[in-house]
Amino acid sequence: QPRPETLEDYHSQVANKLSDNINAENIKEYLRVFTREPHVAGTENNKKVAHAIADLWTTIGLEDVRLIPYDVLLSYPNWDQPNKVFIKNGAQTVFESTGVSPVIIPDEQSGKYAGHQWVAWAAPGVVTGEVVFCNRGHEADFENLKKMGVSVEGKIALLRYGDGFRGDKVKIAQDYGAIGAILYSDPADVATDGTDQSHVYPNTVWMPNEGVQRGSIMHGDGDPLTPLYPAKTEIYKSRTIEQAKKARVIPTIPVLPISYTTAWQIISRMKGRPVPKPWQGGLNVTYRTGPGLNNGLTLTIDVKSELKSRKIRNVIGYIRGRDEPDRYVILGNHFDAWVYGSIDPNDGTAILSEVARSMVATMNQTGWRPARTIIFMSWDAEEFGLIGSTEFVEEFLDVLQKRAVVYINMDCMTGNRSLMVNTVPALYDVAVSAAKTITNPSKSEIDRGRKTVFDTWLKYWPDSKRKGRPLMPVPGGGSDHAPFLTYAGVPVIDFSYNNASKKDYALYHSLYETPFVNEHLLDPDHFAFHKAVGQMWGELARRFADEVILPFNVTDLAATIMKVYMQDLRNAINPLMYFKEAISDAKQQLTNLGTAATEFYTVASQFNTTITLARSAFEQNPYDPRHVNAINERIMGIERCFINPRGMAGAPQSRHVLFSISSKDSYSGLEMASVFDAVAAFSAAKSAAEREEAGRELAQQISIVQYSVMCATNILRDHI
Ligand code: GLU
Ligand code: CA
Ligand code: ZN
Ligand code: ZN
Repeated sequence: QPRPETLEDYHSQVANKLSDNINAENIKEYLRVFTREPHVAGTENNKKVAHAIADLWTTIGLEDVRLIPYDVLLSYPNWDQPNKVFIKNGAQTVFESTGVSPVIIPDEQSGKYAGHQWVAWAAPGVVTGEVVFCNRGHEADFENLKKMGVSVEGKIALLRYGDGFRGDKVKIAQDYGAIGAILYSDPADVATDGTDQSHVYPNTVWMPNEGVQRGSIMHGDGDPLTPLYPAKTEIYKSRTIEQAKKARVIPTIPVLPISYTTAWQIISRMKGRPVPKPWQGGLNVTYRTGPGLNNGLTLTIDVKSELKSRKIRNVIGYIRGRDEPDRYVILGNHFDAWVYGSIDPNDGTAILSEVARSMVATMNQTGWRPARTIIFMSWDAEEFGLIGSTEFVEEFLDVLQKRAVVYINMDCMTGNRSLMVNTVPALYDVAVSAAKTITNPSKSEIDRGRKTVFDTWLKYWPDSKRKGRPLMPVPGGGSDHAPFLTYAGVPVIDFSYNNASKKDYALYHSLYETPFVNEHLLDPDHFAFHKAVGQMWGELARRFADEVILPFNVTDLAATIMKVYMQDLRNAINPLMYFKEAISDAKQQLTNLGTAATEFYTVASQFNTTITLARSAFEQNPYDPRHVNAINERIMGIERCFINPRGMAGAPQSRHVLFSISSKDSYSGLEMASVFDAVAAFSAAKSAAEREEAGRELAQQISIVQYSVMCATNILRDHI
């Protein structure tokens, strides 16, 4: 390591090298290697991909590359008898779906069983019933149907993909009494320019006829049979399949996904009143609520599926840190896919591998070695419900809580418009400053004028509450960062490059995600976007691994609690003040939380002085890192203060008091969900007695947040 006077120069030299070393051609090549065959988790093909990654990482020069296996429950269709939809007139079949999406580019898609249309965890069964159009499958949609006099009880729910996790749609439909469910892609979401050949894949990135979105409809935390404990061979499986169904972790009804072409067969024959205007989709027919089809036609779904115990394998590899080898900066992406996975997730796998290669190359060229250890993770069975990552976090919980500095997730690069970052307040700054160093890769008419990735990001996602800063939402449950944040309390950054919208890309989880899309449609200009994503990932990792003081802004965390979260709470609780008595404890507690947050903010601001002192102590004597180590220890400790080891009510795996996954939509992250749940319970209370109890619960939940804030303040203070 050079002397501190020249440390900054040295860091920027390393940064430039790392960035220059990211080679787009390598990413392209790796992507081809990982996407040769369909590779669903738990299959031979996916085992091959795990080994291909491990081999590549070893060749690249990562240290101690190995596989970490788990025995988990997974779900598969019957590959010989695809799932089907039938429309019948008495005994005569009027329409029968093939259950298999057609191959469009034979060179890339002729793998065995590639086109099968299925969702994981669906119950097997043949169900005949009246169909009801349930829009997006939100609770509000079912309530609206009720008001229109339409019930799904005993019926088949037709659910439109998009705007929420598919598993939540199915769960809600099941709760409302549906006996089966169909998930369909609407052309208004996946083929907005029209559905004829010239407007869809392979001519554009829009979904072709007969394309479907696969996916998981499980609601759990990792392997369904081993909640909270790792699914190791030698660990007891505490939950049975029956219990998993009872706990609504696994659905009990048959479910299958269909294309818009198949959906047209159903929707164009439905009876009932026209749907509310916002529910009308892009098919050229009047959508009707049902129940049922015209002219006495009947609808049948035939779903075949099996639960199976299978081995999965995470891949791990290291670059050991020179100064603090027991501090981990973890970079991760999953490698299992629904079919070929060239977008989700293997553009990420290819980029991650190139980040690793570029780091090793930089080490060889310059003698650099990161100060802290960088761990590369490639997760298995993410698609079935974040299984590989959750089991890993369960297995190594203690070590991760003590040693992990940050987890940086990049699931897939899904578009070529804008960076998108989900993270926690203390990391807003580092995300922004890293993005400012990445050259804007765009050559498109609309985006090419801007200098850096940051400029375009800010353009598409301005934060209305903070000028000059892009919006960085609370990370949700859509990918492997979730268990790190919500269970272990390890701060995370989840980022990607996307189409500058919250919608999924059209080809999401379809057969057509093959390298052709990345090479010819998404990123035809020398993989410039793939490269930029790699540069961003590498730069983030470098900052966490090398900066003398960990790049956390605790003042930002304090300010966010004090200003943004407090205001959100006040807005929610103010309308309840009418119930003077019942709310009085909560009101007092809210005041106390405000005081604690202000105190945290004050102490955090003073902590900056402590940082400056430690830094200058280090500069005077770089061979004595004790002062900076103490600071970094405190910075890491703050994040852990927000873990409540008891978890949320009825959800022991959800332990972060500030951040959690929405129970209504697993894709969304929430702030202080326990408190807001208590607010909702108070509002719903029907009697004075109920209200009194709800008021006490609300006070207690606010108090739990306050306790965490006080913990953080104590850590920041120089003395007790
Ligand atoms: N990313 C996967 C999906 O969207 C899994 C998400 C989850 O199970 O939470 O289907
Ligand atoms: Ca487990
Ligand atoms: Zn993914
Ligand atoms: Zn996925």
